[in-house]
Amino acid sequence: MKYEKIRKQVLEAILDAVDQGLIKGTSGNIAIQDDVDDVVAITPSGIAYKTMTAEDIAIVDMYGKWIDGPLKPSSEAPMHTAVLRARKDVKATVHTHGMFATIAAMAGELLPTTPPQSEFVPVNIVPFTMPGSNDLAGLVVETLGETGRAVLLKNHGMFCCGKDIKAAMAATIYTEEMAQTSYYAKLAGVFNPMPEEAVKAMKELIARDQAV
Ligand SMILES: [Zn+2]
Repeated sequence: MKYEKIRKQVLEAILDAVDQGLIKGTSGNIAIQDDVDDVVAITPSGIAYKTMTAEDIAIVDMYGKWIDGPLKPSSEAPMHTAVLRARKDVKATVHTHGMFATIAAMAGELLPTTPPQSEFVPVNIVPFTMPGSNDLAGLVVETLGETGRAVLLKNHGMFCCGKDIKAAMAATIYTEEMAQTSYYAKLAGVFNPMPEEAVKAMKELIARDQAV
């Protein structure tokens, strides 16, 4: 099997995302760029992830063109590959339709409620654009900017990225958690996000730690 390492990483990550309730049915997709060749392993379109094998993971070029695998790549390949092309620091991308991120995308900017969430802000919002389109891909790149790790997609879900799949999954988990804690805190009438200075200090601390 060609590109076995990234295919296995995509499979493992998607099963983990399903287990954590971040992805349901065939919604959501994950992409990982090979560390040597300019190719990307991405979840295929319209297949239940639970029964998928590593061979089923599609291989596309850096523009989302299908080059290997028995199943058609995700229709969101343009969004994943556009971010991987634009950001040299990004090697893995995750797109989910998590319930709380979807609600937050209609509500406004997300603010951290706990220290680990600080790493992933600001989380800006991409206005509604047709799924799978190059327009959506371009807007996601633009909204993430040079350093963004997570964006909300209005009336759709969320898109996260990282230097590897562990980092991209952490962005996904903590952004969904940020949306969930904010939702319940607002409902309970106790919403009180972390002070701005504390968020800044946490971001610096995390960046220093990652530089070691
Ligand atoms: Zn989607």
